[in-house]
Amino acid sequence: MTSSSDIGLYVHIPFCRRRCHFCAFYLEIAQPDRIAQFHSALIQEMALHGQHNFLKGRTLQSIYLGGGTPTALPADQLASLLRQIRATWPTSPTAEITVEAHPSYITVEDLRVLVEAGFNRISFGAESMNETDFAPIGRYGQVQDTQRAVRVARDAGLSNINLDLMYGLPGQSFQGWLTTLDSLLTLEPSHVSCYALTVEDGTRLAQDIARNLVVRPDELLQIDMESAAERILTEAGLSRYEISNYAKPTYPCRHNLLYWTGGEYLGLGPSAQSYLDGTRFGKVADLEAYSTCLNDNRLPMTDRTTLSPSEQQRDALVFGLRLLHGVPLQAITAAERDAEINGLYAQGFLEIDQERVWLTPLGRRYADSVAERLF
Ligand code: SF4
Repeated sequence: MTSSSDIGLYVHIPFCRRRCHFCAFYLEIAQPDRIAQFHSALIQEMALHGQHNFLKGRTLQSIYLGGGTPTALPADQLASLLRQIRATWPTSPTAEITVEAHPSYITVEDLRVLVEAGFNRISFGAESMNETDFAPIGRYGQVQDTQRAVRVARDAGLSNINLDLMYGLPGQSFQGWLTTLDSLLTLEPSHVSCYALTVEDGTRLAQDIARNLVVRPDELLQIDMESAAERILTEAGLSRYEISNYAKPTYPCRHNLLYWTGGEYLGLGPSAQSYLDGTRFGKVADLEAYSTCLNDNRLPMTDRTTLSPSEQQRDALVFGLRLLHGVPLQAITAAERDAEINGLYAQGFLEIDQERVWLTPLGRRYADSVAERLF
């Protein structure tokens, strides 16, 4: 678990070689000149944060390079970025240092450079282990790329390997999902994230569904797929610790636990979010505006909101209920508590004991609305 002194750093690398049809993240297609522009702005962003001493000398317990696809940048550039981070902020010698990667675009040489630099966790977007699932979601690559990437990551010295999966893909059957889970387990990941496919406005997937080119995800099938994933992954020794996340003992993602336990983090890069000293703020989601601000020696901050104690309590509840062990009873506002808890318990959304409240499998499907009712 996290403690109040834990603090994390997130870096958003806003590039991919192509955009998957379901993806709504802020990113652009990787081009050398844009990467160079981003990299120099990011170095300046770190320098300015260092000068302003935002982290007040606190030690980083986790560093997470996400995106986008961080490995769209050359491995030696990522290594130099990590050196720069460590030169700017004290970093725990036991910090969890993650890089997200696309399995089709990583070599054993890249992985050696990354491990040598200090990355000790890698997260691959596998999405499915059945290639016929890829075309409708515009996911580039082959299943054998994932198998090769995990093997070479392990050979390079990484034991903490996450694989992301999505379920409810267009045309994916229940049996196909079981096959994907079985095939994934042969790779022996230490951590698996399973996300139900959702259709975000403005994506190519939303357009394809509107034109009847692709079928909309079947939510009832997704519920069955989620239950099957829990059973199969748990039997394989990967415990579910958060709505979408499973890990072997000692391998829950420390960085993401910061988000779910009200921990603090600084986000760098366009669109990155931060939470420090009770204040949430973002960085502008536009590479041009981001670079212009930093060239001007200004931090590209946006949407700054200082949370009242009551808002902090609400956020702690919304995020904390995502964890399988839930939240302490005291996290729930006393005046509202008894009637709502009893109602949600009677409806099968909550479990409760003397100390904690947590979501049932049914409650997990409606986690946000349950949290709203409790606050
Ligand atoms: S690789 Fe990941 S970040 Fe890039 S477009 Fe696909 S889903 Fe989005």
